[in-house]
Amino acid sequence: MIEADLHLHTTFSDGTLTPTQLITLCAERGLKVICISDHDTTNGLPEAFEAARAYPQMTVIPGIELSTDVPGSEIHILGYFVDHHDADLQSILEEFRSGRENRGKKMVENLNAMGLAITWERVRQIAGEASIGRPHIAQALVEAGYVQYSRDAFDKYIGRNGAAYAERAKLEPRDAVRLLAEHGALPVMAHPTYSETKSDRAGVSSLPETLDELKQAGLVGMEVYYGDYTPEQVEWLRGLADEFALIPCGGSDYHALGNPNEPEPGSVGPPMSSVEALYALKAAAAK
Ligand code: AMP
Ligand code: ZN
Ligand code: FE
Ligand code: FE
Repeated sequence: MIEADLHLHTTFSDGTLTPTQLITLCAERGLKVICISDHDTTNGLPEAFEAARAYPQMTVIPGIELSTDVPGSEIHILGYFVDHHDADLQSILEEFRSGRENRGKKMVENLNAMGLAITWERVRQIAGEASIGRPHIAQALVEAGYVQYSRDAFDKYIGRNGAAYAERAKLEPRDAVRLLAEHGALPVMAHPTYSETKSDRAGVSSLPETLDELKQAGLVGMEVYYGDYTPEQVEWLRGLADEFALIPCGGSDYHALGNPNEPEPGSVGPPMSSVEALYALKAAAAK
């Protein structure tokens, strides 16, 4: 029985369920602790907390997921217990989101140059108020009939090695870790290795070196129980987490994108001992 799912997305970034719908689903699945971790935004948190009042048996940890770049790949850093009332942090997040806009426009231009007729206006419409991401572009491509599933859009066009991919302003992983730590959040490395259902999610090369570096910058945990990871991947990552004294975290990374075999909330997550370790760190940091 999975009791915790610490990686979930809503319509405030590239998920397709509103915070209220997601909270309801998680509560119905019997989850006891969840973390909402939208990309570069905390704007879904007030609605999530409001909706969660109907389910006192379930705790919602405020979170965020930051994207960072490394040569040829990217690393995502989760921030648990982020303070969404921190004005300084909010202005930095706004900059990150404007970088997302520019990069999204660039990818649409690249697609247009390749003869795929989707418009930026439509992508913007799909995203609504959300922190824009590639899944919104993927959705426009699905809708226009260029691909069957969102995932195929990544494989063919907008994955890191896709023909229409565009980079965004660089943020180094260690800077994201420091940024979160300085603002009182607990930094945790997301999905450190290959995932079958998210095809452009390659492994982080030299993971031990990366963990060593990020640990020194303030990393406190890494995802181990994630999405569609196999038992072998989980075992390997669990060993690495132990080696670097990182709290083994995880979750479904649910987006409700309609990809085949998408892991659902409550299908995967860390043991409650990890949640307790996170709360202990949070309490210690508050002193
Ligand atoms: P972005 O934040 O714009 O870089 O987009 C990255 C997001 O796209 C990830 O957080 C996933 O939600 C999603 N994603 C990445 N790879 C895939 C894939 N192969 N299929 C579907 N969604 C993906
Ligand atoms: Zn996402
Ligand atoms: Fe991610
Ligand atoms: Fe995610």
